[in-house]
Amino acid sequence: MLRKKLIAGNWKMNKTASESSTLAQEIVAAVGKQTDVEIVICPPFTSLESVGKIVDGSNVKLGAQNMHPEANGAYTGEIAAPMLRSLFATHVILGHSERRTYFGETDAFINKKTLAALKNQLRPILCVGETLAEREGGSTLKVVQTQLEGGLEGVSKDQITSVVIAYEPVWAIGTGKVATTEQAQEVHAFIRSLLAKMYGDAAAQKVRILYGGSMKPANAPELLTQKDIDGGLIGGASLEARSFVELITAASAASK
Ligand code: PEP
Repeated sequence: MLRKKLIAGNWKMNKTASESSTLAQEIVAAVGKQTDVEIVICPPFTSLESVGKIVDGSNVKLGAQNMHPEANGAYTGEIAAPMLRSLFATHVILGHSERRTYFGETDAFINKKTLAALKNQLRPILCVGETLAEREGGSTLKVVQTQLEGGLEGVSKDQITSVVIAYEPVWAIGTGKVATTEQAQEVHAFIRSLLAKMYGDAAAQKVRILYGGSMKPANAPELLTQKDIDGGLIGGASLEARSFVELITAASAASK
């Protein structure tokens, strides 16, 4: 298998440190020894340390939901890559549509974060995706291309295989509306073709492209068996161990 499936849970602004510990313990108990799927959980910053201790020694990895591009300095309220590394985070979600929409993050700013994450041995999960108006206006591929090229500017051929791309149609996030398998596969294949143009086919074949947007145990098997869908970035369904574990089971089955 060229690309191991990856299931990443984005807990967003949910769960106190103690609630996070409970959920992390349940996940580790159920899938901590899982080896055929890569598993990442991304709790809020305030839970990273406690969750990091719980996942330590298991196959569940720790991710953050955001970071600032600078290594330190006068950026009140922000968190830097070395701080995440010191808590043993391995991944960081960058450019999530909620960051773009509510916090005005641009491709240029997200690009700085991507480069900083890679410099600090953090694997970026770079999110791209169109709004409903953009899809209905026929500009999905153009929007995705701009976000992808902008976010990856300056990322080298050696670095690209450490990057995970998440295609998340904004209209499908938290809405219960899921992209059809054809809609998702079309954009995933397009992203891989762009990566091939930028980095060559061999590198493009190694990059994981996750789908995100109301992925649930019921729709996951069909999405996860598409040729270019290498896993999921999961919001709502990652907040309960049972549904998150079911998604990992679906990813495992889709890998066979
Ligand atoms: C997300 O926030 O990345 C996401 C995909 O959320 P949901 O699964 O709730 O749509």
